[in-house]
Amino acid sequence: MPNNLLALNWKMNKTPSEAQAWAAELSSALSPGEAELAVMAPAIMLPALAAGLPAGVAYGGQDVSQHESGAYTGEISAAMLRDVGAKYAIVGHSERREYHGETDAVVAAKARQAQAHGLTPIVCVGEGLEVRERGEHVQYTLAQLRGSLEGVGTDVVIAYEPVWAIGTGKTATAEDAEELAEAIRGALTEQYGEAAGTLRILYGGSVKPDNIASICAKPNVNGALVGGASLKVADVVGMNDAL
Ligand code: PEP
Repeated sequence: MPNNLLALNWKMNKTPSEAQAWAAELSSALSPGEAELAVMAPAIMLPALAAGLPAGVAYGGQDVSQHESGAYTGEISAAMLRDVGAKYAIVGHSERREYHGETDAVVAAKARQAQAHGLTPIVCVGEGLEVRERGEHVQYTLAQLRGSLEGVGTDVVIAYEPVWAIGTGKTATAEDAEELAEAIRGALTEQYGEAAGTLRILYGGSVKPDNIASICAKPNVNGALVGGASLKVADVVGMNDAL
């Protein structure tokens, strides 16, 4: 079984100076635990994190371009992320899908591009409230997963993030998280065979220090992708200690 990954998504928060101060505070507060810790910050802050994070704490981008290089104003390439030492790139976060119209095909292209440059994509999938209320959350999420993994290799992390639980304070139960994580594991086994057993499936959606342990104790959940509770060092230390 893979060890847990505690992946932090700062979204569009903090400045580079605040990132530097956060890294220094983390360095004095963090005791090494069982989980791997990774900070997904706005790309402009990655050099400050590279210089200031405690040894062993990884970092990455919140998105990556599907293109190699060229006339794509405002985009950040996988080669750029890799060059500043990033290990991961989130792709297909629900906020990118919703506000930037990213389709499964675009998400898969981003994941392939990340892998081509040695980054591990964290591919996000998950249903909205209406889909869940119709009871179609498993089939919806698996269809999104298959589309988002088209041509994507095994160096990948999946984050199951039900959209209704992101930033809302509504957390899926540990049983809800496991239901989808198990179904995702099944789909990964169809695509990757035995290697699927070693892949990490994260849960994301209002995870905090007081609920992370029960969710990550489920057999198919191998960590969490955390937004709101990733901003304060005390919460991060609390979650890290709980894993
Ligand atoms: C996220 O942004 O991926 C997320 C899960 O946010 P939050 O933890 O705030 O729900």
